[in-house]
Amino acid sequence: MDHFLYQDGELFAEDVPLSCIARQVGSPVYVYSAATLRRHFGLFRQALDWTEHLVCFAVKSNSNLAVLKLMGDLGAGMDVVSGGEYRRAKAAGVPGERIVFSGVGKTVAEMRLAIEGGIRQFNIESEPEMRALSALAASMGAEVPVAIRVNPDVDAKTHEKIATGKAENKFGIPISRAVEVYAEAARLPGLKVVGIDVHIGSQLTDLAPFRAAYAKVAELTGVLRAKGHAITRLDLGGGLGIPYRRDNNAPPLPIEYGAVIRETVGHLGCEIEIEPGRNIVGNAGVLVSEVIYVKRGEDRDFLIVDAAMNDLLRPAMYGAHHDIVPLVEAAPGAAVQPYDVVGPVCESGDTFQKGAELPGMAAGDLIAFRSAGAYGAVMASEYNSRPLVPEVLVEGDHFAVIRARPTFEEMLGRDSIPAWL
Ligand SMILES: *Cc1c(COP(=O)(O)O)cnc(C)c1O
Repeated sequence: MDHFLYQDGELFAEDVPLSCIARQVGSPVYVYSAATLRRHFGLFRQALDWTEHLVCFAVKSNSNLAVLKLMGDLGAGMDVVSGGEYRRAKAAGVPGERIVFSGVGKTVAEMRLAIEGGIRQFNIESEPEMRALSALAASMGAEVPVAIRVNPDVDAKTHEKIATGKAENKFGIPISRAVEVYAEAARLPGLKVVGIDVHIGSQLTDLAPFRAAYAKVAELTGVLRAKGHAITRLDLGGGLGIPYRRDNNAPPLPIEYGAVIRETVGHLGCEIEIEPGRNIVGNAGVLVSEVIYVKRGEDRDFLIVDAAMNDLLRPAMYGAHHDIVPLVEAAPGAAVQPYDVVGPVCESGDTFQKGAELPGMAAGDLIAFRSAGAYGAVMASEYNSRPLVPEVLVEGDHFAVIRARPTFEEMLGRDSIPAWL
């Protein structure tokens, strides 16, 4: 459930009409609902209330400082995958003890930043990385908590670009080699082994792959403990999917996901960490856009809108679907017609949806792409020299711009022309 609902024929974010935000901030614009973020975080917390746990928000899904501050104030930890995300988490006031550092290519500079600033744990993804972290930590006289990310070779049954738990993927170490790698970790200076990490992919709509992966982690916990490793923490990753289509079978709920965790690893007495991103913020955001032209094609009508693939990349990148709805509610029983909804960017891939069923639209009408809070603004670029899309946070009957649209002066000012040209 989210807080984007029609009231008196107009689409609202909580108690604010989206058209009012579009009028004041301009279009296109991302709009997030604070109440929805809080609600979704609470559902994960509730799903794990049977054990000691930390819900670490996956910063890569939405890294706006205001969103991170809101999550951090609720007690969330943060899962970061770069030095930049680490800085964002800290800037949002989240203490290092609640920040987990994941990612396959952490540089020494990034690891140093996190050791100096404080870190809950590094999730190690390879032996070279483990040795580099050990050498760095030892040179700094530090002992850093680590978990090793294992690749359980489980098919997450999701889009191939967001599956991460198969042997062919670049993530983690093969679970078959875990005993060997943990033995080396225990010998290396500067590292304190605290747990096991796993993350098998994103937008999972079935619990079976989670169950399979977590069962393998449970088995490995027993094996590693028998070898003398103190496994006290299990980081089970993120990945629980969301409904992108209103009419669709809904994916499992956080409470059901929590039950799978309890069933598979609950008996081990470990502290549980999870790293949801999409499930917390995906349906807490929409992208509002304005129709520029309605263009009659040979065999179809195009709705040319002012948002484009550079603002919301998921359809072009993953063939992803976002429900598109008009901000003015269609009258009950009103005729709908199919439109190909496209952006102004010079790429055929700049197509949001083919044959979207919408009431008759005209230039100047406003629409919203639903479920755009995760992997939306964070993936935006300035392709075609389009300014980065701004972001707005709504709370009850008020809202704030939490990232302003850059001016063209700012955009041009980042380039420089060498004196010898
Ligand atoms: C992307 C990612 C997540 C978050 O995935 P969601 O599908 O957004 O929940 C969590 N952990 C790691 C390591 C990731 O790479």
